[in-house]
Amino acid sequence: MKTLLPTKSKSAIRKELKKRKYENLELVETIEKYLKKKRGYVFKMPKRGSPVILLLSGGLDSVVVWKLLMDTYHLHVYPFVNKSSPQEYRSVAFFSKQFQSLRYFHEPFFADDLLSNKGFATLMRTNRIHPQQLLANLLPDGTVKMPSIKSIQSILPYFAAAYAQLLQYSHNIICRTILCGITSLDGEVVPSQTLASIRCTNLSLCLVNADHEWQYASLLFEPELYHSLSKDQSVALGRDMGLPLDKTWSCHLRTRKHCGECIACIYRKMAFMKSHTLDTTTYLHHDHPSLIARIKKRLTNWFG
Ligand SMILES: [Zn+2]
Repeated sequence: MKTLLPTKSKSAIRKELKKRKYENLELVETIEKYLKKKRGYVFKMPKRGSPVILLLSGGLDSVVVWKLLMDTYHLHVYPFVNKSSPQEYRSVAFFSKQFQSLRYFHEPFFADDLLSNKGFATLMRTNRIHPQQLLANLLPDGTVKMPSIKSIQSILPYFAAAYAQLLQYSHNIICRTILCGITSLDGEVVPSQTLASIRCTNLSLCLVNADHEWQYASLLFEPELYHSLSKDQSVALGRDMGLPLDKTWSCHLRTRKHCGECIACIYRKMAFMKSHTLDTTTYLHHDHPSLIARIKKRLTNWFG
């Protein structure tokens, strides 16, 4: 079944980008001009039947993109997974089973969690954070705003490019396109997921590989495709494709079920609500009447 993605004009997308805190349109224009000069285009979707690498986390958006790329774009999808938690692994394993009979399905490639070494893992626990840093991140309500490594997501496309070359040398599969499931919302709060960051990574991939055919883009958020989808639109697409979205994993914690209270869980809940989709995810913390107030408070703490 072909599922069409909603589109927006480039000028409407540009208008949205102008409002973003971390966006850098001047840089976007410079890189796009350079890419057009070098290869004649900024981004183009590979032809039907071509191979692409997908950065797959097991999260809702990347699973939706996985299915869309196979069903709607008829692309051979080679998922690259940074195996970071058993919950994400469970999601990838579940959907691999669901999709394995599809024509364009290929088994995901699992890299060991690239950031799970002892040094980085300390940041996942407040009792391992230096007291001065705890004080620096203390919020008025007594909670601590957990630090994050902002460049965490930005290194994955380079490993995916290495996987593409592994496919080339081992199976003669020539793939120069790496796709992901960044939504229009993500770049508003995560600097490594802005259009400027995406374009910078694309340019860098061309330079480090001495090959201007390399492409890095998000299917859900790519002005060249007229796509600028929010998370709730991603939920709606997944719902319309009949995906059991409760099997995807969004939570930042490594609990058995979604915690229901971390920023990722909050965005997940909001996306289901906004898209009028029944959320059958099991959360450890159940909703109560003041959910909206708690969401507002949590968002203010994180981004205020
Ligand atoms: Zn959570």
